[in-house]
Formats: sequence, C-alpha cells, structure tokens
Amino acid sequence: MKKTITVLIVISFLLLCSCQKTAKKTFFALDTVVEIKTYGEIPDGAEEYVKELEKVFSKTDTKSELYLQNEKEESTPSKLLYGLIKRSLDISADTKGAFDITSGALTGLWDEAAEKGALPDAESINACKENCGYEKVRAENGSVYKPKDLKFDLGAVAKGYIAELTVKKLQSLGVSSGFASFGGSIAVIGDKPDGSGYKIGVRSPDGDGVIGYTVIRHGIVSTSGDYERYFEYGGKRYHHIIDTATGMPSQSGVRSCTVISDDGTVSDALSTALFVNPSLLDELYGKYDFEAVLITENKTVITTAKAEFVITAKDYSPADR
Ligand code: AMP
Ligand code: MG
Repeated sequence: MKKTITVLIVISFLLLCSCQKTAKKTFFALDTVVEIKTYGEIPDGAEEYVKELEKVFSKTDTKSELYLQNEKEESTPSKLLYGLIKRSLDISADTKGAFDITSGALTGLWDEAAEKGALPDAESINACKENCGYEKVRAENGSVYKPKDLKFDLGAVAKGYIAELTVKKLQSLGVSSGFASFGGSIAVIGDKPDGSGYKIGVRSPDGDGVIGYTVIRHGIVSTSGDYERYFEYGGKRYHHIIDTATGMPSQSGVRSCTVISDDGTVSDALSTALFVNPSLLDELYGKYDFEAVLITENKTVITTAKAEFVITAKDYSPADR
C-alpha cells in the first residue's frame, strides 16, 4: 500500500537578470519540507521561529500545545492557539462544515487507515462522525469548551497561517523579497528585485506537468489536492481530505483547489473547504478576500474574477460558469 506526498504548487525563483545574490534554507517541520528562499541573506532565527510555532500547532507531536489541549474539555490556550481556533471555528461555520477543524476523530481514523493500508469499517466511521462538529464547541474570552472526545485538527489551516507569520517575521528582519514554502502553502514576500512577480504553477493532478500559472506579488497561495496524500486499496485511491458529511474522502469532482489571499488562514482553510464543496465558491467569494483556481475531474478550470490564471495544459479548458 502506498502513501504518497507530492508537491502541489511550483514557484519560479529565476530573475530576468542574475545580478542579485540568493539564499536558500530547507528543513523539515510540520510533517513537511519547509523551504525558504530569499534574495539577499536569510536572517538567523527563521528555522527556530518555525519550530516554535510547530510546538504550538503540531498535530503529531504529543507534546505540542494543540495535542495536550485536545485531551481537555475546558482549556485556556495561548493567544496564538486560541486565535487560530476561534477564527477556524468561524470559517467552519461559514463553510457549513466543508472545512471543519473539529474533524480530528475522523481524520485520525483515516490517517490510521492510510498507515495500515486498509479501509475503516462503517461503524467506526459513524462513531467518529459523532465526535465531530464545530457547533459542539464554544470559544469565548480566551477559553475553549468542547466534548472530551472531540479533537481539533488544524492540518487544513495551520500551514497557511504559519507561512503568513513566517514571512512577516522575515520582513521584520529585513527581507524584502523571497518566499516560504510549507508543502501546500507558499507565502510570497514582495516583488523580485527586477520588479517581476512570482510565477506560481498549479501541478497537474495526473503527472509532473502544470495545468497553468498565475503571477503573484504578495500573499499566500494554498492548494488542496487529491494527489497530495493518498493510499490505494482494492485498486481505488483514498485521499486525505474528508467530507465530514459522509465521513469519507470527499468526492466533489474537484481534483485540486488553489486559493490566493493576503490572509494565510483564509487561503489554507478555503482551499480545503472549496475542494470539499465547490458550490460554496460564489458565497464565500462575496464574504472573504481571495481568488481561487479549481481543477475538476472533467479537465475544466474554474477561476474567480481576478485570478488571472493562464491555462497551459492543452487538454484543459475554462469551465462554463
Ligand atoms: P489541506 O491539504 O490543507 O486541504 O489539509 C488537509 C488536512 O486537513 C488533512 O491531512 C487532515 O489532517 C485535515 N482535514 C481533512 N479533511 C478536513 C476537513 N474537511 N476540514 C478540516 N480539516 C480537514
Ligand atoms: Mg487547507
């Protein structure tokens, strides 16, 4: 049985002229390869900063603040953790649970299934569904109240948020151009020194090429895809993004969803939400500040009004909307 992780988005780092010195740092954190590339030096402390954030938000580290907090019914988390839980609960409600940070019981069940290479039975899925639901949680005045067996999973939002925090930190330390990549989320800092923007390619769900690209000058780009993490069983693929309504890997007809926003919480959370339920696109577009590119299994590309996505793959075409 196979568990695969692929890169979802690609970013160009080439300059029109090669006169500016570049720096690169790569390390492992938050279950992914983190890559920081800058024009000019990378200041000391960037990796340590990410590792500090990992201690708060990690889903797998049994000593992380999130992990310990998940054991409790009532807690008063750090400002950082409380802030992300509170916002994520609001987005969970706005996305009608398509993105739901309280889905830890279900996502844990599917993580185990991927480890074992076997499907969970219907009884276990239903039991886990009972322990999910953003409406069962209250976050008020810095405290969080939840049923004991309900577990937060910030896996669909933390990397976007951390990518945003990391580039803000780099900027405060003097970096004016570069990016920080956390697997499915990339945060861009300013223009390149030659004034051009960063070309972001969305990978093809079926192979190595790209479907197309857009150019961005700032903001965070997050992609959720069914080819990101999955295992195969009985000749079928089971990916890692769960529709909490069915308890199964989502089957919305979307193969990947890329969201671009100045807000890393929004880009990451909505990439997951729209992957699960693309029919929310117009409603969410009216409420949040973002652009989106959705690649469907029918080889069409759905884009929001100002996404400026250029399709380069010959077999893909814009969707009729
Ligand atoms: P992403 O790649 O940003 O879409 O996040 C996927 C990760 O978020 C998974 O590995 C799970 O840990 C978690 N997750 C899966 N499905 C959902 C969902 N519907 N809502 C919130 N988190 C989810
Ligand atoms: Mg996400």
